[in-house]
This record gives sequence, structure tokens and C-alpha cells, in this order.
Amino acid sequence: MTELSALSSVPSAARDAVLKFYFGPMDCGKSTLALQMNYNHGRQGRRGLVLTKHDRSGGPKVTSRIGLGLDAIEVDDSLDLVELVRGHDRIDYLICDEACFYTLEQIEQLADLVDEHGVDVYAFGLASDFRSRMFPAAQRLFELADEVCRLQVEVLCWCGRPGLLNARVVGGAMARSGEQVVIGDTDASPVRYQVLCRRHHRGGQLAVPSADEAALGAEAGRSQENLSASA
Ligand SMILES: [Zn+2]
Repeated sequence: MTELSALSSVPSAARDAVLKFYFGPMDCGKSTLALQMNYNHGRQGRRGLVLTKHDRSGGPKVTSRIGLGLDAIEVDDSLDLVELVRGHDRIDYLICDEACFYTLEQIEQLADLVDEHGVDVYAFGLASDFRSRMFPAAQRLFELADEVCRLQVEVLCWCGRPGLLNARVVGGAMARSGEQVVIGDTDASPVRYQVLCRRHHRGGQLAVPSADEAALGAEAGRSQENLSASA
């Protein structure tokens, strides 16, 4: 018995392939969703490739913080994604993790695969860098994608607000300038990344103010009150 599903029951000619971009800060579950999506499509008899670049494992794998993992094709800058798909028998979809690090040319190739070759492309990645500026590849995906979805799997700033932006922390202080891409072992190296809400990313506050800082802040608040009272 053939299993009918929403995807397989639709004649392929009746449905355009899609380019979708899922974005969010670190730890929001992008890689977990990428792996889940690959699993679901595979179960429906569809054939896909899983691609990544600079995965946290350091190897050609998609790994998620909750412990899932899968071998993947590492996308180096010279890889032609159309040629890659052409080199396989039949490819129905691509899972592109860490797509924010692909080249602009590779994003165009993804669009070609959708429009010219009928391949569904599901791209995952960060939208913006540690300065809250958009990665060029992410920007191009925003421009070209059929659908763009923000992922928010309860990753919170220290203040409890939704975490929207990644901060780069170098030697305990928030960096405002530097190379757009610095990948390291974010646990052991002096460079780490931290998810913050917009307010605390813009203000550069990495943690709850200490008791001393809070007292200073309250004092500053009081003298401001005095100022406004005397004005
Ligand atoms: Zn915050």
C-alpha cells in the first residue's frame, strides 16, 4: 500500500517548488527543526540533501544543542549547488543549515534550483551578526524567499524578554566591531556569543546589574529626580 500524504498526493507539475528561510538567534532550535524537517520529508519517500557550513561540531554535520546530529555536506565557498544537485540521481529538496554563511552566488543557485529544477529549498540561519547587521546571504534570502519565518523557541535574554539578537562577547565585554564571522568553540575560547533582547543588545548589558551597579543606577535616578524637582 502506498502511503498518501499532503506532499506525495499532489502531482509535482501542479505545485511550484518553494524557497523558505527560517531565521532566529542562536539556540532558537534552527538545527533541530532542520533535522526534523529532513526526517519528515524522508519518511514521505522524498530524497534530499542536508548541507551546512561552520556547524558547531566543526565537522560536516548538522548538530543541534539538544543532541541530535546528522552527516551533512559542508558548503565551502567554491561549491556550486546546482552542480551538486545535478550530480545526484533525483533530489526533491535541500535542507540548508547555517545558510547565513553561504556566498551570495550560492543563494542565487538555491533560487535557480527552485525555479529551474523544481527542488524545494529549506534554508535555516541567523539573520543578523553580532552588531545586529544583516548577513549578506540572509538579506538575499529575505529578498528572494517565498516565505520567511522567524523561529522563537523560548530563547530568552537574561531579563526574560524574547532573545532576538546575538552579542559577541570578547574577554567579558560586548564587541561592537570586528570580523563579521568568527567561529570558535564558544564554550572554551575567549570569544563567545550570547542572545539578548533588543533593548539589552543596544545598551550592551550582558547581565543583571550587580548590587553596586544597581545602587549607582538608583542614585543616578534620584539625582535626576532632584534635578527635575528643582527645575
Ligand atoms: Zn534583555
